[in-house]
Amino acid sequence: MNIRCSSLPRILACPASAVPPATAIDTGGEYAAVGSAVHAVLAQWVTEGVWDVDSAVERYGVGRDEVSRPAWTGRKLWALYEGRVEVVHVEKEMSSEFPRHGFTLTGHPDMCLKSMVGLDLDPTRIIWDCKSTRFGGGHSPLDQLLGYLYLWFDEDMEMWDRPSKAIIAWLRDGFCQVIDVTGDIIRDWQSRLFDAMEDRKTFAPSAEACKYCPRSHECPAKTALLQESVLALAPSDGPAVPMTPERLAKLKPMRDVLKNEIQRYDKALALALQEHGSLPLDDERELYLSEETRESINAGPAWAVLTEEIPIEDLRGALRVVKGDLMKIAMARAPYGGKKAYADELLDKLRAAGAVRTRTYRTPSVRKRVKEMGDGD
Ligand code: SF4
Repeated sequence: MNIRCSSLPRILACPASAVPPATAIDTGGEYAAVGSAVHAVLAQWVTEGVWDVDSAVERYGVGRDEVSRPAWTGRKLWALYEGRVEVVHVEKEMSSEFPRHGFTLTGHPDMCLKSMVGLDLDPTRIIWDCKSTRFGGGHSPLDQLLGYLYLWFDEDMEMWDRPSKAIIAWLRDGFCQVIDVTGDIIRDWQSRLFDAMEDRKTFAPSAEACKYCPRSHECPAKTALLQESVLALAPSDGPAVPMTPERLAKLKPMRDVLKNEIQRYDKALALALQEHGSLPLDDERELYLSEETRESINAGPAWAVLTEEIPIEDLRGALRVVKGDLMKIAMARAPYGGKKAYADELLDKLRAAGAVRTRTYRTPSVRKRVKEMGDGD
């Protein structure tokens, strides 16, 4: 059995998802194509110094805007490391066999790097991988990067206790998450992986695990959870169960699984309407894709026209500065070693000028529970 490192976060969460589906359905689609295009642009930039978004857009048949923005962020993040690390491999396919456990682990990390600091001593091995999803939006990809490190070390146990790092470049959030990897972390990863691959029967449905699982369309555990979720959130008969705070909390994972299904349905419906034009709803009504065109102003070319036409005091109400984009521009201007300090200083100046507005957003999120004495076992 072949296991890709990219599947590891899901398999370690739900061992049954390691088993291939009886009927394979291609669910990769557009999302995976955008990711492949972004990776291709960045790989070409790192290896050849050529920035060619158009060829990747054409090869993968995706929208230019979807690719150019994350790819540009990846380029800026790579600039923080370029010249300070040795590039050992770019998208190199690697594999390792585990005959006793009945699988082969394969994968290609974006980059295998070695820090140049202390090359003569013991350079740090670094796995660099870009992610187009939001930070904290699903399973942590760390188990995937640990898989890459393992493949690179090629089971050389001695390597495990040498310095190594996993760097996750979050393209949507515009920052690099740097994780120090110790031998104990790799050993724990290996033991969890072997346990999961020996098991392969335990189902653990969750919104994160089921979303991209190849067994999703035929999984009894996911179907059971969906049915349970519908009944729990929208009971069809009997007295309504009161929504106590405890019950609201218990329903959250079910709500997340249902939300994924509704998003999947929305996408399929939009595709069907694109293909057929309209679809009958009943004798009187039909569904169609309504269209609304909205204009937006590109600030760069607009600036010269606006400042000529409208006094700056009157323009203020219509001006917006995107903080994330501004910080990326500021950091790109600052020298190595001083980027964060410069960005912090700029933010302090903006705060002092009353230009920074603070809003607090609250989202229901899951974290490990701190158990009190006598709470559970
Ligand atoms: S669909 Fe969900 S529960 Fe079923 S195997 Fe996949 S991840 Fe596990």
